[in-house]
Amino acid sequence: MIDLSKYTKELSKLFSTARNILIICHINPDGDSVGAQLALYHYFKSKGKSVDLMAPNNLQEFLKWMDGVDEINIFIKERKKCRALIEKADLIVMVDFNQTNRLGESEEAVMASNAKKLVIDHHLNPENFADLIISDPGKCSTSELVHELICNVNGATFMNRSYAEALYVGIITDTGNFEHGAYSSKTFRIVADLLDTGIVKEEIINLIYNNFSSDRIRLQGFALNQRMVVLPEYRSAYIYLSKSDLKEYNHVKGDTEGFVNMPLSIKGINFAALFIEKDNFIKLSFRSKGKFPSNEFASQYFSGGGHLNASGGEYSDTLENTIAYFLKVLKENVWRF
Ligand code: 5GP
Ligand code: MN
Repeated sequence: MIDLSKYTKELSKLFSTARNILIICHINPDGDSVGAQLALYHYFKSKGKSVDLMAPNNLQEFLKWMDGVDEINIFIKERKKCRALIEKADLIVMVDFNQTNRLGESEEAVMASNAKKLVIDHHLNPENFADLIISDPGKCSTSELVHELICNVNGATFMNRSYAEALYVGIITDTGNFEHGAYSSKTFRIVADLLDTGIVKEEIINLIYNNFSSDRIRLQGFALNQRMVVLPEYRSAYIYLSKSDLKEYNHVKGDTEGFVNMPLSIKGINFAALFIEKDNFIKLSFRSKGKFPSNEFASQYFSGGGHLNASGGEYSDTLENTIAYFLKVLKENVWRF
């Protein structure tokens, strides 16, 4: 556990001297990245700060109801405006990622900025690309980490309803609704404070998890029925989806979210992979149960990374060759399962 109070002085100074703050989430933003971003936004707004928001690319539909989400400028959609915001900022806060390539197409512009740069994140092995990097892999979510830092800087627990909703989304999406990840008794104490603001957890759950199109549910059925391969000898299973599979089910961004977790509910399966065919490469997601370091597997073989039990990467080859390569490297690692 990291003693976060050691950052309070430096953070307070960064926050109080900043005049124009820009908060950036990672590419293909998930609930935790946007949750942490919006929580910071609501905090800074309450203090009367000038604050702007940016995402490298589009948000998924299931996040678009959150308070403040309309303020997020999408770099690939509004390049000129985003470049101006980057230029204007004297403090850039980057949340839930620790590698510059997670800035997507905004990487060059952001890294060229003279603004002070702050990273708040909970992934392992941060790259050294900011003035201050606050990295705590012991936290279940960047949202939880942001809350603790804000409370320290604020000198007392900070809370309002929009802020609570943002943190709640971050915490439940990164823990699979308290199923996995580094959540702790402390997480539940924070969640208790969030619920006290009057947020309705059933409503949020419905907006996040029960908001699918019928095409998405049918794609899930197809993936499990036709595209899942179980490898009991390796305690592993994988699901693959080609571009034409996705097209057939009118795939929209985010539809395959969560698919990678499903094989882990098979008895005896400790490692699951999902292969999604993109235009020029294959996107991979990995999940594991127990000690198998899926992030090491992702970084060693698929130019990726992430957490012990949830990671991802990519591979520039055909779907068929990527699966063949995966099976080869899986065999080499079978002793670790
Ligand atoms: P997901 O499978 O939900 O896309 O990603 C799970 C986690 O894996 C993410 O939170 C992120 O930490 C990590 N991750 C996914 N894709 C990549 C990637 O291409 N590179 C790196 N470094 N991490 C990734
Ligand atoms: Mn996260």
